[in-house]
Amino acid sequence: MEPSIAQTLTTLATCPSCQTDAALTLGALAGGGYWTCSRCSHTWDAGRLATAAAYAEWASARRLRN
Ligand SMILES: [Zn+2]
Repeated sequence: MEPSIAQTLTTLATCPSCQTDAALTLGALAGGGYWTCSRCSHTWDAGRLATAAAYAEWASARRLRN
């Protein structure tokens, strides 16, 4: 089941690099927001997150094959 839009809008974004919660919701991110992670100092926006998610998916699919 897909998460509801309301849930997405209030869920905090998470740094893909160190899993630290951002002080930013996914809704704000979708609206063009971005944040700099307090732990690892990476800067993330919707585009970078999509790239990181696609890479993680690719990497896990690759692990399953090997
Ligand atoms: Zn981080």
